[in-house]
Amino acid sequence: MKIMSINAGSSSLKFSLFDMNDEKVLISGVFERIGIDGGTYTLKYKGDKIKVEHELDSHATAVKILLEKLIDLHVISNLEEIEGVGHRIVHGGDKYTKSVMVTDEVIEDIIRFSDYAPLHNPAHAICIKAFREVLPKTPMVVVFDTAYHQTIEKSRFLYPVPYEWYEKYHIRKYGAHGTSHRFIAETLKEKLGKEDLDIISCHLGNGGSITAIKDEKCIDTSMGFTPHAGIMMGTRSGDIDVSIVPYIMEKEGKSANEIMNDLNKKSGFLGVSGLSSDSRDIEDGIKEGNERCILAEEMYVNSIVKYIAQYYVLLGHVDAIAFTAGIGENSPETRQKVIEKLACLGIKIDLEKNNVRGKFAKISTDDSTVEVYVVPTDEELMIARDTLNIINR
Ligand code: ADP
Repeated sequence: MKIMSINAGSSSLKFSLFDMNDEKVLISGVFERIGIDGGTYTLKYKGDKIKVEHELDSHATAVKILLEKLIDLHVISNLEEIEGVGHRIVHGGDKYTKSVMVTDEVIEDIIRFSDYAPLHNPAHAICIKAFREVLPKTPMVVVFDTAYHQTIEKSRFLYPVPYEWYEKYHIRKYGAHGTSHRFIAETLKEKLGKEDLDIISCHLGNGGSITAIKDEKCIDTSMGFTPHAGIMMGTRSGDIDVSIVPYIMEKEGKSANEIMNDLNKKSGFLGVSGLSSDSRDIEDGIKEGNERCILAEEMYVNSIVKYIAQYYVLLGHVDAIAFTAGIGENSPETRQKVIEKLACLGIKIDLEKNNVRGKFAKISTDDSTVEVYVVPTDEELMIARDTLNIINR
């Protein structure tokens, strides 16, 4: 059974086609610069990578090319072979607590929640409609990144601000990366062969978030009303004192939007180092003795440790700490620095086992009070699994 997993951004469309019999990817790829000059698409198929320059005026054009290519390359012989399409949706507001089948009402809700995710939700809706046109009979499912965090209790998802803001405008914590954190929880359950694990899941990519998971349910997460909150990130500041915003607005004569742009796109690793948002460049800078890179990494590690320590206390008992996403999976240096700062909790890293990249591995010592793992995330597979489960129901 073949299931397509789709992740659409404002100008991009990533896809993976899975054979769900063995959960293997048959073909994957990305369409970039949709609606902007200089469109391209890249396909990864049977070990080859094909990159084509092709103007992409809309998501509908990208979807059309994608389906044509699947037939041209003989990945499928007809469109009916795709038995389901799953779409990643960044924001499901406080209405969606799990993945659901696409209906007109669901599409309307996705558009309605665009206020919370203005770059993503409109693109998701456009992309779903484009697929519906070419595959009108194929069942489609939406998988919300916020859904996993809907089990957080009110005393943790509310901000201590005027209560009317919540009543009138739904100001509250929504979280992000839920599909990834859920995948980590499911993978650890399967690999460790244990139910009801208590986990601290650290998704450390360009964006980053940390989630406290009790008995498979999320009980708190570091991202907030938007994916701006929480730990320091590639270009985002993470948590800061909000008074900085009006202060800099006045000092620099900037608008609130301009300051938000600085906090979203010019902060984090990039802002502190003045060099790059990419952790690999920061690591190179550290090796060359660049003081600002050393400072940026120290601040990054501190922000992660702060959340792990907080969630350790919240959970009371922790079975596993998991590192995932670009940095979490590939940077032994960052993992080592984080775990060494948790020594007072009896958590210990095995430096030899930690020398691993992109593979599932236990990296804590046998006498560590908490087991520490590297768990490669796979949001696309999670989307395909949800799609299959919902279609089969
Ligand atoms: P996102 O999906 O949020 O864009 P990723 O999960 O791809 O982000 O993570 C991007 C980050 O991961 C970058 O900071 C990058 O430097 C880091 N990263 C990716 N691959 C590696 C690697 N092989 N070694 C070290 N860091 C890596």
